[in-house]
Amino acid sequence: ILKVEHLNKFYGDWQALHDISFDLKKGEVVTLLGPSGSGKSTLIRTLNGLEDFKDGAIYFKGEKVDPSPKTWQGLRQKIGMVFQSYDLFPNLTVMDNILLAPTKVQNRPREEVKKEAMELLERVQLADQADSYPRQLSGGQKQRIAIVRALAMHPELMLFDEVTASLDPEMVRGVLNIVKELSDRDHMTMIIVTHEMNFASQIADKVLFLEDGKILEQTPGKQFFEHPQTERAKEFLSSMD
Ligand code: ATP
Ligand code: MG
Repeated sequence: ILKVEHLNKFYGDWQALHDISFDLKKGEVVTLLGPSGSGKSTLIRTLNGLEDFKDGAIYFKGEKVDPSPKTWQGLRQKIGMVFQSYDLFPNLTVMDNILLAPTKVQNRPREEVKKEAMELLERVQLADQADSYPRQLSGGQKQRIAIVRALAMHPELMLFDEVTASLDPEMVRGVLNIVKELSDRDHMTMIIVTHEMNFASQIADKVLFLEDGKILEQTPGKQFFEHPQTERAKEFLSSMD
């Protein structure tokens, strides 16, 4: 569903991503691991058109992505993204946050989307908060809403960048369970940046281990956690225990 070939990304003169190549099949889960500053967020943002890239190519469903704002606008309807900071609109209720893009961007009938939104809210155990405003919710609840809001667009690929990093420990499990269920039950294709190694080892079909903007390892999930190939990855894993 996604193929990245020899991608190079610069911030000014400085190269943030070096020759990144990987592919992702439908239903697969890739986790991006690596130390702080290794380029995980940069890569995720580039895959959603939030950052430009200098050379290399991205293919989505076999088609080469022409990196124009218009193309990305269209693609963002198919590629959902959830960040570390829940970016819900503070002046809209939970329900209106969820309805906004499917009704305004995708022009789907409001009642139909609303019905589906309620089902999604029930699934994340927040149906009773449909009329609340974001400020009335905990961090974990907001993050579950942010996931529901992305899912309401019917994405074919989901990108998660440290979605639990700013949550209190007791909130983390609930959010990770939802992501895990998306994989197990819905076979959602996902790219996940996380510092939760236990979670990563349970969910990853494949691990991309990054350092200094380069992919040092590209390994099946189980193998990465049991037998990392590089010294650097071994060190990284032992530092995370
Ligand atoms: P973390 O685990 O801390 O989130 P990361 O792996 O997500 O780190 P990135 O945020 O992708 O790392 O950053 C990679 C490198 O690019 C860092 O050296 C960072 O300082 C640099 N960088 C990120 N965004 C910009 C920007 N907008 N302009 C210039 N440099 C940037
Ligand atoms: Mg980051």
